[in-house]
Amino acid sequence: MEKIITRFAPSPTGYLHIGGLRTALFNYLYARANGGKFLLRIEDTDLARNSLDATKAIIEAFEWVGLEYDGEVVYQSKRFDLYKEYIKKLLDEGKAYYCYMSKEELDLLRAEQEKNKQTPRYDNRYRDFTGTPPDGVKPVVRIKAPLEGSVSFKDGVKGEINIQAKELDDFIIARSDGTPTYNFVVAVDDALMGVSDVIRGDDHLSNTPKQIIVYEALGFKIPRFYHVPMILNPQGRKLSKRDGAMGVMDYKQMGYLPEAILNFLVRLGWSYGDKEIFSLKEMLELFNPNDLNSSPSAYNETKFLWLNQHYLKQTSNENLESLLLDFGVKILESHKRDVLYNALKDRCNTLISFAQGFEEVMNAPSAYDEKMYAKLDRAAIAALGAFCDELSGAKWEIQNLDELLHSFAEKNGIKIGKFMLTLRCALLGKSGGIGVCEALFVLGLEESLARFRAFMAFAG
Ligand code: GLU
Repeated sequence: MEKIITRFAPSPTGYLHIGGLRTALFNYLYARANGGKFLLRIEDTDLARNSLDATKAIIEAFEWVGLEYDGEVVYQSKRFDLYKEYIKKLLDEGKAYYCYMSKEELDLLRAEQEKNKQTPRYDNRYRDFTGTPPDGVKPVVRIKAPLEGSVSFKDGVKGEINIQAKELDDFIIARSDGTPTYNFVVAVDDALMGVSDVIRGDDHLSNTPKQIIVYEALGFKIPRFYHVPMILNPQGRKLSKRDGAMGVMDYKQMGYLPEAILNFLVRLGWSYGDKEIFSLKEMLELFNPNDLNSSPSAYNETKFLWLNQHYLKQTSNENLESLLLDFGVKILESHKRDVLYNALKDRCNTLISFAQGFEEVMNAPSAYDEKMYAKLDRAAIAALGAFCDELSGAKWEIQNLDELLHSFAEKNGIKIGKFMLTLRCALLGKSGGIGVCEALFVLGLEESLARFRAFMAFAG
């Protein structure tokens, strides 16, 4: 069977955004699932717009989410000599030619065509030129596009695509300074890198016929193409920075887990029945680019958070602890950590909210919620001193604390709900949050007593 070789080919003009990561993921999955190769090519020919930082950011984001590419990164900026060779080859074979049209002439032609309501296109005036070139014009190189018929290909997502020759013109493959143009280098690289399947955003669909012209002129095998629709925001417009974070690493700072990001992204444009949760292993088993959706998918933050919580729950407390170090969370004894983390896993959907939940328990309240305080039962407050005495001798286990709390309330004729509310206010300062017994257990005897004493002093 033919080896599957895919690639991700970002232009390093900014951070890696999640749409790009989705494209990378699809390519990665298809290659890995088929024992093929997944290559990374940095499209940095636009020297003015590139940044080294952007390249680093792409590689960093790949590392974070665990997408491994094969071999060395290919940098287009290091391949200019190679592109020149292929341009020369096309010139030598008469499949490309020098065009000496000046910018003024081109503008004039455009204006004329627009006046006649024609699509602007080059008029092939130098295609078969044999005369003496005009003085002082540095020529561009144009490739010969078909004059009749059409360029056709079957797109794995969009279906049969057919572009009439009259819609294509002899486009430029090398500028007057000799640098190659985008569509030329993409086709040359994909061919030389042996890429068998190109999965990319459908903003590149209109480039494909041009790239096919290059493939054909150079006698290269044409890969299969899959053009994936954009990710839309909830309002149905193209996803932009205004819709939240876009950079993959921003999501790291926002407390998302890589597993959640990959799961979220794989479902944007691909589905398998109504299954929502996909481990990487399952993605590898089930993903097929032929199942990519042909309609755009919408970014749904609620779902993203739901997935993130799912993966937070799946993460061992030990691993979670080390992830939370970046969010300022301190190390606890493991038996306390496990109780607190298990309680927070039910309530938090990002590492940030997890860290907040942690602080809310571990930091003594600096104030007591006024509304909550006003509703407290005075008898319950008055009983706190005696409760502290009972706690002091207690066996520090959740089950035991729970029993103690219930029997104490009963003995003192206080409704358990009212008693719990008082304890919660004293320990945590506000309603909501983890269970009272869990909080007691995690805080330990000394800290619990200190909080009760502070509360009693406040209540007078
Ligand atoms: N460099 C292009 C981009 O960043 C992708 C080219 C391709 O996938 O063919 O959008």
